[in-house]
Amino acid sequence: MKETRKGMLLVISGPSGAGKGTLVSRLLEADPTFTFSVSVTTRARRENEIEDVHYHFISDAEYDKLLAEDAFLEHAGVHGHRYGTLKSEVYTRMENGQNVLLDIDPQGARTVMEKEKDCVSVFILPPSYHELKVRLHTRNTEDEEEIQRRLGNARGEIAQMDRYRYLIVNDTIELAWEKLAAIVRAEKQNSVRYLPEIDEN
Ligand code: 5GP
Repeated sequence: MKETRKGMLLVISGPSGAGKGTLVSRLLEADPTFTFSVSVTTRARRENEIEDVHYHFISDAEYDKLLAEDAFLEHAGVHGHRYGTLKSEVYTRMENGQNVLLDIDPQGARTVMEKEKDCVSVFILPPSYHELKVRLHTRNTEDEEEIQRRLGNARGEIAQMDRYRYLIVNDTIELAWEKLAAIVRAEKQNSVRYLPEIDEN
């Protein structure tokens, strides 16, 4: 039997500290059909981050140039910095049947959902605001001012969760992962992207 698959565009959002990063890494490790769309950002690189793997770290001037060239599928200001998804990270891969994963904020996700109706959108929620605060402090990647900014933004982001096709509360990473894997598995069989050709014999 022959089959054709179109690439899936999977959009994952969630407030900082909800555990989105862990789920994204898990999916990329577990499923080689997915590639990560590396965004550009004007924020500073963190110590544990690798250039061109986690982000393309660029200057404001370079960002402006990309904007002028219409290079973005979406772009947004998040927590005081600028981020954008490059069309070049997404479309060629999808045309080749690869699945593409976007880890982007709700403003960007909204743009992508409007432009790409068949995208699969997933929002990751923390089990409580208290837990979100604890996780942001424990991971120790932002200073106190940045943590407060991210906690302040979380309520607004969570208020928009009903725009997403799927919601996952990340109370334990194992259960959340099981749910994400189930969504991906089902969406691979969605007739918008999966076309089996049935033989005569
Ligand atoms: P961080 O600075 O912690 O890496 O990311 C902050 C937020 O920016 C996260 O919610 C992340 O999903 C979002 N983000 C990362 N890349 C992009 C992008 O290309 N576009 C948009 N709209 N948001 C992004």
